[in-house]
Amino acid sequence: MEVINPATGERERTIEAQTESDVDDALERATAAYEAWRDRPIREREELLAAAGDVLRENKREYAETMTREMGKPISQGIAEVEKCAWVCDHYAEHGSAYLSADGHPSPAGSSVETVYDPLGPVLAVMPWNFPFWQVFRFAAPHLTAGNVGLLKHASNVPGCAQAIEDVFRAAGYPEDVFQTLLIPSDLVAGVIEDDRVEAATVTGSGPAGRAVASTAGDQLKKSVLELGGSDPFVVLDDADIEAAAETGAWARNQNGGQSCIAGKRFLVHTDVYDEFLEAFVDEVESLTVGDPTDEATDIGPQARADLMDELHAQVEASVEAGAELLTGGEPLDREGAFYPPTVLADVPEGCPADSEETFGPVAAVYEIDDEDALVAKANDTEFGLGASVWTEDRERGRRLAREIEAGCVYVNQLVKSDPRVPFGGVAESGYGRELAREGMLEFVNRKTVWVE
Ligand code: NDP
Repeated sequence: MEVINPATGERERTIEAQTESDVDDALERATAAYEAWRDRPIREREELLAAAGDVLRENKREYAETMTREMGKPISQGIAEVEKCAWVCDHYAEHGSAYLSADGHPSPAGSSVETVYDPLGPVLAVMPWNFPFWQVFRFAAPHLTAGNVGLLKHASNVPGCAQAIEDVFRAAGYPEDVFQTLLIPSDLVAGVIEDDRVEAATVTGSGPAGRAVASTAGDQLKKSVLELGGSDPFVVLDDADIEAAAETGAWARNQNGGQSCIAGKRFLVHTDVYDEFLEAFVDEVESLTVGDPTDEATDIGPQARADLMDELHAQVEASVEAGAELLTGGEPLDREGAFYPPTVLADVPEGCPADSEETFGPVAAVYEIDDEDALVAKANDTEFGLGASVWTEDRERGRRLAREIEAGCVYVNQLVKSDPRVPFGGVAESGYGRELAREGMLEFVNRKTVWVE
């Protein structure tokens, strides 16, 4: 596996990928680790998770630097990401037992019925490069604490992050092999899922990766959770606070270089406030600094890989060709590295790539729409259904619209985010299942009914 620094285009290092025989050893060790881990009192599993949170906080700069080198994340955003990972550890260290405590039911006379939550065993996590720490901790914190053991197949461009995450658990005092990184290419994933020693799989990534994992898991009758792409609407109503919507919208689209499944991608703006919003939005976007990701002041670093930037640029070019108006950005920067400027497209025609596909980079599509029903219809006019953001000074109106939008979550007067305390996931092409909160923790457990007469 080659690590290419996307800010310089230079090869950082080459790592030997693991073979099928290495995977076989790892699965054997995972099975053995699970036998002891499942029987550890949950209190002890929570204490170890709290220790993992401490390790993360102690080494946050080092981990952030690894992300910056491997996928170009601006250093300040990398540090914030590691802090968020520590938070998800704290969250499940504090609430894990409560989330997993038995649920009573109305019981027939003379009996007592409850649901208890048993772990499943080794779970495979196929993870992407965009939030290389957060996506993994969002999986590991609840599911290790539930008594499962974790196997990570990370994206091939972030092997250093994958190794560092395994080290976090080791340094925190977890038993060997409760969390293991498999440094394997994606063509070995199906074999891992098919193996009898693996009980379930989760994937965060593109539709093709999700389909591949889900179909293998389905064929094996194994549980899967899919967190895939999105083309989230960011709806600005006629009574919105325009300044706040423009400022938050620019960040919702461009943080992490725009490489986020829950970024606001389609900005649907009521005609009464369209001109005001567009001007403020373009100003905000143009004020973001693009540059060296090791500089604390940088807002937008390089795109994670040159091939992904080329795909993004092709989407922009095809959209402009189809009639979209380019207001800012739109050309790769003339410098070393995969730098793409924040880009705004207006008058985006239906069916062009910026309208109908996910744009995984700093490209905003803005639409002028003349009434509320049409705004909702356009919000739902997508094959995805991950998140949505709605801006209005009337909270009841926001609540009402939230019910009409087909997505896994709707945030009113706030950008879409994944927060340890609330369930996260999508519908339609954005996948199925939930992560985080209690709902997420219960995805990989046996919800066992116990009836005592
Ligand atoms: P992928 O979906 O290809 O990669 C995500 C993970 O899935 C990686 O670990 C990858 O491994 C693995 N993977 C890929 N194909 C398969 C397969 N057939 N079977 C099993 N595992 C597989 O994303 P890309 O890096 O190629 O990015 C392409 C697009 O995906 C982006 O432009 C974006 O639209 C979307 N994406 C969405 C993300 C999200 O958060 N929902 C995150 C990342 C990307 P390997 O790296 O070895 O190929």
